[in-house]
Amino acid sequence: MAYKYDSENIFAKILRGEIPNDTVLETDHALAFRDIAPQAPVHVLVVCKGPYVNFDHFIDEASEEEIVDFNRAIGQVTARLGLNPDEAHDGTGYRILSNSGAHGMQDVPHLHVHILGGRKLGRLVERAD
Ligand code: 5GP
Repeated sequence: MAYKYDSENIFAKILRGEIPNDTVLETDHALAFRDIAPQAPVHVLVVCKGPYVNFDHFIDEASEEEIVDFNRAIGQVTARLGLNPDEAHDGTGYRILSNSGAHGMQDVPHLHVHILGGRKLGRLVERAD
């Protein structure tokens, strides 16, 4: 499968330092920063540093090291922000999601995961019926 990555997308510019961001965490293969238009009291984006368009591209072509680092970064952000609902952390929970393609309503064509929390988030999607 050939994926077309546009290196002029906004997250590529953030990763190159051309656009500022409010960083929450940085690892070898991931950068987490606050969303510019938050849809919840906590809204953080975790972006893979590698040039992957979406989750499918990432899973097809990323190294195991990148995949592990990226997923661990997501867990580190939820812990750092105090969202984990387990007994050790006592947070109130969160939602992670990654939009892909037209029906996923993906705006920025660079793999990223949204972390949302800080309020009760409602249903995952609107019911169609
Ligand atoms: P998508 O629809 O692609 O899953 O989500 C893209 C997200 O990126 C949106 O929530 C949008 O608010 C956020 N975003 C777009 N441009 C910028 C930017 O320049 N800086 C930051 N921090 N977030 C951005």
